[in-house]
Amino acid sequence: MLDNDYLYHCRGCEKPDKDNQRVSPISYHMWARADAYGIYTGLYCDKCYDDKEKYTYRKDNYYDPAYAGERMNPDE
Ligand SMILES: [Zn+2]
Repeated sequence: MLDNDYLYHCRGCEKPDKDNQRVSPISYHMWARADAYGIYTGLYCDKCYDDKEKYTYRKDNYYDPAYAGERMNPDE
C-alpha cells in the first residue's frame, strides 16, 4: 500500500520520500535514477538502488569491481 500523504515513493520498497518536496522535473529528485543511456528509470531509494533484485536497470556508470576480474576462491 502506498502512503498517499507523500508525493514520492521508492519503486522498490514503496518507502515514501519524507521530505515531501515537489520536484520538477521528477528526474531532479534525489532518488531519480537513470540507465546507462540517461533514460529515467524511476525513483529508487539508495538501498533499493544498490539491491540488484530491486533495481534491475543497467548502471554502467557505477562500475562494480566485485564483478570484474577473477575471484580467489580456494574452496572450489
Ligand atoms: Zn527503496
